[in-house]
Amino acid sequence: MLSSAEVIKKTNRFSAQNYAPKEVVIERALGVMVYDPEGNSYFDMLSAYSALNFGHRHPEIVAAAKEQLDKVTLTSRAFHNTVLCDFCEKLCELTGKELTLPMNTGAEAVETALKTARRWGSFVKGVPDGKQEIIVCENNFHGRTITIVTMSTDSSARDGFAPFTPGFIKVKYGDSDELESAITKNTVAFIMEPIQGEAGVVVPPEGYLKKVREICSRNNILFVADEVQTGFARTGKMFACMHEDVEPDIYVLGKALGGGVMPVSAITANRDILGVYEPGSHGSTFGGNPLSCAVALKAMEILVRDDYPKQAFEKGEFFMQKLRAIDNHHIIDIRGKGLLIGVEFDTDAVPYVKKLIHNGVLAKETHERTIRFAPPIVASYEELDDALQRVRKAFTA
Ligand SMILES: *Cc1c(COP(=O)(O)O)cnc(C)c1O
Repeated sequence: MLSSAEVIKKTNRFSAQNYAPKEVVIERALGVMVYDPEGNSYFDMLSAYSALNFGHRHPEIVAAAKEQLDKVTLTSRAFHNTVLCDFCEKLCELTGKELTLPMNTGAEAVETALKTARRWGSFVKGVPDGKQEIIVCENNFHGRTITIVTMSTDSSARDGFAPFTPGFIKVKYGDSDELESAITKNTVAFIMEPIQGEAGVVVPPEGYLKKVREICSRNNILFVADEVQTGFARTGKMFACMHEDVEPDIYVLGKALGGGVMPVSAITANRDILGVYEPGSHGSTFGGNPLSCAVALKAMEILVRDDYPKQAFEKGEFFMQKLRAIDNHHIIDIRGKGLLIGVEFDTDAVPYVKKLIHNGVLAKETHERTIRFAPPIVASYEELDDALQRVRKAFTA
């Protein structure tokens, strides 16, 4: 087996440099722990940006995958498979919507939501095709396609990728007045993250989601919630919109939906919105494949059975309380909901990330000064306590 140093060297030699990974090589993993080729262990506090809510290799999800591997893995949507119907039913039930459209990655689900909103605008609302406008938030993260980076305000995500897609208007996140003033007769949708994850765990002011809902309804525009990172219990509710008892028109979902095993994404909405598709108008070769559906179905069953929202809420309180007790005057803010937590420093956070890794905790900075903690929701209190002792050591040394 290659050593960590050899793996890093070889990866850098043969892979494009669109990432700069921390110098940790993961060879295997189970639950909250990952291990490098030398046998060093680390507590995973990033959880693949919330895709690992169930921890690594959750035994029931792995068993569901293995069982499906022995039956059929891929059919394409040219034919039916026996698992897609159960997957769609379960996701409709969880989100309280009538229809599901399955894709694979978060970015594809976002693209699907944008296409749906434009079609709904043209076919249902009566906006002339080609005139549809979609309002987005500053500092958003919705993925990496050309259209999605059009929506971004981050120059490193945009530089050199022009020409961009027309039809997007940017407003300040958390400011409902700005949203309202940006609406025109051609506006079809507003897309937002209920908590901005990549921007540094930015929680909007209390009442914002409710106001957004009200403004969207009054102006006949679709409220699209990108819950790819916040969904499936991460923030202490099944979906983060539920913190304000708000129901978006379209849910955009991904990451944890795949149970940490497969890329699985989807959007859900009612028939008056998702009914705009006829056969041939949109699709994906791998979207809704039986292996993905089997894995996601099992993940959703576990989520409900083991009350992950309650677990994330209670463990989040515990975690936040312990973080607040850490004495470091460079920490200027600790924020978040459930187990999606950001610690902001008044200085560069990268040296602290290095210290965390040195102490056996995997985490990563977002935007230089904030460290995101998003441990797997399956983490036990003993495991969290142990990890927090390491965090304290790293932050006070
Ligand atoms: C990660 C993320 C995406 C993109 O998902 P990919 O699977 O990486 O394409 C979209 N929206 C949000 C909020 C995300 O956090």
